[in-house]
Amino acid sequence: MRAVDIIIKKRDRQELTREEIEFFVRGITSGEIPDYQVAAWAMAVLLNGMTARETTDLTLAMAHSGEILDLSDVVDFVVDKHSSGGVGDKTSLVVLPVVAACGLPIGKMSGRGLGFSGGTLDKMESIPGFRCDLSIAEFKRQLKEIGVVLAGQSPSLAPADGKLYALRDVTGTVPSLPLIASSIMSKKIAAGAQAILLDIKVGLGAFVPTLDEARRLARLMIEIGQQAGREVVALLSDMNQPLGQAVGNALEVREAIETLHGGGPADFRAHCLHVSAHLLMLGRRAATLEQGRRLAEQAIASGAAFEKLCALVHAQGGDVSCIEQPERLPRARLVEVFPAGREGYLSEVNARLIGESSVLLGAGRSRKDDAIDHAVGLLVHRKVGDFVTVGQPLVTLHANDPARLAEARHHLAAAFRWSETPVPPLPLFYPLEAGEEVTPSPLPAG
Ligand code: URA
Repeated sequence: MRAVDIIIKKRDRQELTREEIEFFVRGITSGEIPDYQVAAWAMAVLLNGMTARETTDLTLAMAHSGEILDLSDVVDFVVDKHSSGGVGDKTSLVVLPVVAACGLPIGKMSGRGLGFSGGTLDKMESIPGFRCDLSIAEFKRQLKEIGVVLAGQSPSLAPADGKLYALRDVTGTVPSLPLIASSIMSKKIAAGAQAILLDIKVGLGAFVPTLDEARRLARLMIEIGQQAGREVVALLSDMNQPLGQAVGNALEVREAIETLHGGGPADFRAHCLHVSAHLLMLGRRAATLEQGRRLAEQAIASGAAFEKLCALVHAQGGDVSCIEQPERLPRARLVEVFPAGREGYLSEVNARLIGESSVLLGAGRSRKDDAIDHAVGLLVHRKVGDFVTVGQPLVTLHANDPARLAEARHHLAAAFRWSETPVPPLPLFYPLEAGEEVTPSPLPAG
């Protein structure tokens, strides 16, 4: 078999066999197939697509390109969650301690931010001393001892995806449904999950901009899960505007802590309760979503979820005093309000432009090994549908560098659009099937 014939076959819109896909993935992993051929193949897949059968074969080949984690000696049933990436998405920081406090052990391997979208590991590393590079033995020990782990992806899990993703990132081949589905699912399968909750973000600040594509991605990943014998639940959540208020690492940790204390922005809190309820059902700790939600609310109200976060930070070497007194987390020197320039109803609060503004401030990376500033970012005070008058604060910028602050301020100006007439708020979640009723935004009273 030759790599070039497999590229040509995909270029000519033909279906690859399982043997061809396995050969190609082995070549990516070992480095025998050079980057330029892998990149050409990825572009052919992006342009011509893959059948569900090819996508499943690609996923399983990538999952088996490294170790498959076996957690059965530590927990009886492994549940995992994955967000497809967004702006202000600090959900794992709340949901993991909540479900662990409800008695469902959860160990998650997360990623770093890239481009406009943030990453859970960067957020956790705002806490001085916090270590993400756990060995598999440490991961298992912590999962057994305290029931919650938040670590970086082990390089021995799905290494083919690590190589392919790095190439996709620099060759314009990220937004391909079969490549996204196989990338996410291969990592989840390799990490040993029996049940997987997918939080697929859709909108301006997501990798999939339209609901139609998000639905196709969800169906594809559910089918891959079924073929691989895993239970998969997919949620479609809005990412046209940022989730919650905080965008930027330490600011997001602070918002997660407020939420674990029973406060936090209403949309973020509601989102976390809904995701937690689904996880508790998947993990057989709740019989219905309503029961799962109640358990999650109790875990927050009793303080048990916050204690789990403290235990997690302590176990991974972080300074727990920064969690107990969040004012000790890194703080930016320059704080500036960005006011509304006109009056009216907000019709757009563009998550992508806001995410890019936070990268301009230094909260994210443009390239893989850029250093980040944990202190900087933005607090976005207004949501789509809000009525604002001239001069009211739309955003508070937190910066450490006046030139970056000016750049971010300039970039932010295009993020807001107004309407003279009332605009309905955006839903938090969208239905998986077209035509189903939109899940009403489950905002708590007050
Ligand atoms: N997240 C991933 O892990 N892979 C993708 O391809 C896109 C988002």
